[in-house]
Amino acid sequence: MNVDVAVVGGGPAGASAANELAKKGLSTILIERNLSNAKPCGGAIPLGLIEEFEIPDFLVERKVTHMAVRSPKGKMVTMTMPNGFVGMVRRERFDKFLRERAAQNGATLLESKFRTIEETNGGYRLSLDIKGGETMEVRSKYVIGADGANSKVALDLAFPPNEFKAVAIQQRFHSCEELARYENLVEIWYDGEVSPDFYAWVFPKADHIAIGTGTEDGKANIKHLQARFIEKLGIQAKPYYEEAAKIPMHPRKTFVKGNAMLVGDAAGLVTPSNGEGIFFAMKSGKMSAETLIDHIQGKGSPLSMYEKKFRKQFGIIFKGLDLMQSLYYRNDRLRESFVSILEDEHVQQISFDSYLYKKMVPAPLWVQLKITAKNLYHLAIGK
Ligand SMILES: Cc1cc2nc3c(=O)[nH]c(=O)nc-3n(C[C@H](O)[C@H](O)[C@H](O)COP(=O)(O)OP(=O)(O)OC[C@H]3O[C@@H](n4cnc5c(N)ncnc54)[C@H](O)[C@@H]3O)c2cc1C
Repeated sequence: MNVDVAVVGGGPAGASAANELAKKGLSTILIERNLSNAKPCGGAIPLGLIEEFEIPDFLVERKVTHMAVRSPKGKMVTMTMPNGFVGMVRRERFDKFLRERAAQNGATLLESKFRTIEETNGGYRLSLDIKGGETMEVRSKYVIGADGANSKVALDLAFPPNEFKAVAIQQRFHSCEELARYENLVEIWYDGEVSPDFYAWVFPKADHIAIGTGTEDGKANIKHLQARFIEKLGIQAKPYYEEAAKIPMHPRKTFVKGNAMLVGDAAGLVTPSNGEGIFFAMKSGKMSAETLIDHIQGKGSPLSMYEKKFRKQFGIIFKGLDLMQSLYYRNDRLRESFVSILEDEHVQQISFDSYLYKKMVPAPLWVQLKITAKNLYHLAIGK
């Protein structure tokens, strides 16, 4: 089979890339190893994503407007989002919708496991396993690697490695009286006992409550951390489903090479501090496709423009959140200070605005000075 573009991986990144390419009439194949896949994920998405990618209401199963953040000593800071909400989706439904939309717009959707890729004269040859134990070959001029944190496309094409990989676990609990308080509440725990370097969470979904935690890969036993979290939450109910996966939290050193581009987790595009990846997966998928279209239409854009534009638009968010994580997530004393700082209404406003719309709007000087002073105060007293 010959196509213009082969997109490997049908998660949010690959499906978004394939959708844009197909809409512009490029012959595009979207290769996904399991069309019934439920990617381990909290499924929290910001308003900006829902608007930009026209996510229909039926997929946004909860619109959560309340958030509580808990410190190691048990201080609880509760907040409401006056101008928005955190959307909750289930990945098994969300990813399926995105893939099918790409197919409706003209992409060829193929359930098949990608095995290997090699460069040929002016393009790529991909080898795939298809159902029934047969092998299939796809030749493409361009390739988009959207095959997640352990990207085989990146490995075969010798991209620099995905650097910092955290591991996260999540358990699903049936909605019940004991968990009813979470119906419209996201709860985040900063507590070394449940996560020594990240955080633990409770997210409400349409028909269940998702509870999980994360840590740097290999640093602590993730199952023990999760058990400790459930114990500290005081939950008697038993989970009916458990899922875990790696999260890369630093962009690769480069994510464009020749006629190949990496997007989403394959490129390492998950923000430190909060582990948010769905928005950046879809945005990078879309930006890579737009650059490729400009390139093919002879507008003189090299494919490296995709990476350049992505870093220009979002680099500051990645750096800011990286700094925040390395400053405050190191020990319980610092976590205690961090939660205290979140009591400030301006800090809350800035956090919500930047999460919901991914825009860093500078606060007025007096607010910046006030926040700096509070930071120094809480860091000094350690609470
Ligand atoms: C427990 C957990 C909770 C999370 N919670 C959130 C959250 O609440 N909000 C948020 O924004 N982010 C969250 N994330 C991160 C988020 O899940 C990822 O950043 C996001 O899924 C990245 O999308 P992607 O399309 O790049 O990769 P993926 O979603 O991993 O998609 C890759 C796709 O490629 C396919 N694939 C892989 N290898 C092959 C192959 N060889 N052949 C064919 N297909 C292949 C896979 O089946 C998969 O469908 C969480 C992550 C974890 C682990």
